Amino acid sequence: MIDPADDVAHVRAWVDALGLPGLFDAHVHFMPAAIMDRVWAHFDERGPLIGRPWPIRYRGSDDERLATLRSFGVRRFSALPYAHKPGVADFLNGWARDFAERHDEVLWSATFYPEPSAGSYVEGLIEDGAEIFKVHVQVGDFDPRDALLDPVWAALADSETPVVVHAGSGPVAGRHTGAGPIGEVLSRHPRLPMVVAHMGAPEYADFLVLAEKYERVRLDTTMAFTDFFDAEAPYPADLLPRLHDLEPRVLLGSDFPNIPYSYAHQLEALERLGLGDDWLRSVCWQNAVELFGLRR
Ligand SMILES: [Zn+2]
Repeated sequence: MIDPADDVAHVRAWVDALGLPGLFDAHVHFMPAAIMDRVWAHFDERGPLIGRPWPIRYRGSDDERLATLRSFGVRRFSALPYAHKPGVADFLNGWARDFAERHDEVLWSATFYPEPSAGSYVEGLIEDGAEIFKVHVQVGDFDPRDALLDPVWAALADSETPVVVHAGSGPVAGRHTGAGPIGEVLSRHPRLPMVVAHMGAPEYADFLVLAEKYERVRLDTTMAFTDFFDAEAPYPADLLPRLHDLEPRVLLGSDFPNIPYSYAHQLEALERLGLGDDWLRSVCWQNAVELFGLRR
């Protein structure tokens, strides 16, 4: 059983020990309730995109989950709904815009899908002030090189708007996952501020190379280094010195609420890498504050 008070105490103690004012979590999910319910059902049924038992730890209403994040001291976070097929991005984007308007600490999140209107709605959202985009190459099962996305990648690059891309082949490989296809997108749009979700698991080395090659590419820590990920796709120890050097471009991400362990475990998993307190402070707070700011 979860003891919520223990959970909060662990996270708070960890943050306090680093002397941080709080946490900035770049990879959190909030979605319209009906969609979140379907996502959870997919995890519960161990659907084809999941691959193994995945008992989600943090459920409840939006308000309950907002309260949980606040109790942890997560002071700013994304919402990251993502379109899994054509024709749904508009609805998700309207919902996410409203959600960010109602909650100061939520990054205004948006998504897109390769469809003829994508270029224009993404440009409109950027003009209006969207702060972060998210796409999921595995769940969406689309090719990121699709010509319909060229104006999208260009608009994101020109406006320096970060886009979280789940392109790694974890937990289950897709037709267009891996660093190859998205790497071609970066070669065409080298100034794209892409945030690699999950450190690119399990292709950690390939995505690390992309971050070393393209100065605006960042890596989010989402679920990486945890016991849960390490059991299937351990992070290669020989990459750690390079990850240390990439300190300014690693962002805390958690995947809250869809995680099968306590929030504190993600933090402890980062700490046990042994990259030092300065690295942790940059990753868990400073880098994202510099990228997004504290308030719109
Ligand atoms: Zn996620």
